[in-house]
Amino acid sequence: MPRLVVVSNRVAPITEGEAAAGGLAVGVLDALRRQGGIWFGWSGEIATGESEVQPDQTQGAITRATLSLSRRDYDDFYRGFANGTLWPTLHYQLGLSRYDRAEFAGYRRVNELFATSLAARLAPDDLVWAHDYHLLSLAEALRARGIANRIGLFLHTPFPAPQVLMTIPAHRELVRAMTCYDLLGFQTETDRLAFVDYVLREAGGESIDGHCLSVFGRCLRTEVYPIGVQVEEVRAQAVLPANRRHATRLRANLQDGPLILSVDRLDYSKGLRQRFIAFERFLLDYPSHRGRVTFMQIAPPSRGDIQTYREIRRELEGEAGRINGRFAEVDWMPLRYLNKGFPRDVLMPLYAEAQVGLVTPLRDGMNLVAKEYVAAQDPDDPGVLILSQFAGAARELTAALIVNPYDEPAMAAALDEGLRMSLTERRERHAAMLAVMRANSLDRWRDRFVDDLSRA
Ligand code: UDP
Repeated sequence: MPRLVVVSNRVAPITEGEAAAGGLAVGVLDALRRQGGIWFGWSGEIATGESEVQPDQTQGAITRATLSLSRRDYDDFYRGFANGTLWPTLHYQLGLSRYDRAEFAGYRRVNELFATSLAARLAPDDLVWAHDYHLLSLAEALRARGIANRIGLFLHTPFPAPQVLMTIPAHRELVRAMTCYDLLGFQTETDRLAFVDYVLREAGGESIDGHCLSVFGRCLRTEVYPIGVQVEEVRAQAVLPANRRHATRLRANLQDGPLILSVDRLDYSKGLRQRFIAFERFLLDYPSHRGRVTFMQIAPPSRGDIQTYREIRRELEGEAGRINGRFAEVDWMPLRYLNKGFPRDVLMPLYAEAQVGLVTPLRDGMNLVAKEYVAAQDPDDPGVLILSQFAGAARELTAALIVNPYDEPAMAAALDEGLRMSLTERRERHAAMLAVMRANSLDRWRDRFVDDLSRA
């Protein structure tokens, strides 16, 4: 079995038991343990001087290799092009996107820095698996250093329609760089087709069989790998008595009242403002739920050093206060807005406590919260998932109540429908979603990608 070299912007801890890991980390660490290999990326630290290589950490067959970034690299690459240009554009938020040539140069510079450090470590048979929008230029930089290994990229975010991508002045350079990968993996067929569309219509490429493309003098394969969750493990975490302290206190506090739960990083792509307005609409249009229902929004802050993220935080605090001020009674508070994160072992029991999981991003590559919510439910008495049509997960979880996150009255109606849904219908929908999630497990996501890459 060839050695696996995983590259991502951030590298999770490799020591077992350290900081509960998310889907990507769990999936990738399993493969690394099995095949042996390196996980390479940014340490999360900002160097006082230049970006620099940090000491390796090795545990069993896995080596964790990291770099720190200089302040300038961090500003241009991470805050700048990756999160100020690419993230909003890939999520169709053009009004929030900006472009600065110096930041794009910084993005390429950091991809080259990664490539230089990585090239020195690679053996000819190694499989290189890069992750996400931070590393679109990595394969190009590795090829420029003479690396002929098989290199694949899995894009966790959406890939937008060509007309949207083309608002980035450097779109052609970006796509040309992406074609230096041997395998490009997308979350959904919509994303894959958007990429193919760009290659065929904007870059003069040719399709060999719909999946293999010939463009810029290179051949590459495109494929869909919807990322999954570990279904049985999520449910086990949700019911483990030792994990249920917060969930038990919450239930005692809510008494018999139904709980609507949302969990999102505080990000403008998650549709939080529209969701708050939809909840307000729900209280207005369906007054029988007043005095009983609680909507709890868990929203850990993210990317707080970027202006647009500070703005959305301020805006939501205002909205939460306004809605509570308008509807609260001496003995009832409709909205609980928690501006902090929880470890996964606390979160899974909270999912299980909620009668409705409200997941309404404006765009999302997949949205793992939606899948975790379904996996955490009691199959005999499951809650209802309300899911945005613009989350990648909506392609698989068609048995959810699918909503348009821009249509607030329709979301309000879905909340009422979800809270009134019969046990039979809830069970049917839940069983259908669980079956799809078992088929598209996290293990399958990883194994298919690694198999395809080794045959690329
Ligand atoms: N998450 C967490 N604690 C929190 C909030 C979220 O561990 O307080 C996890 C959540 O369980 C999920 C991930 O963060 O696995 C979020 O993934 P998702 O695909 O939903 O969105 P992203 O943040 O990657 O855009």
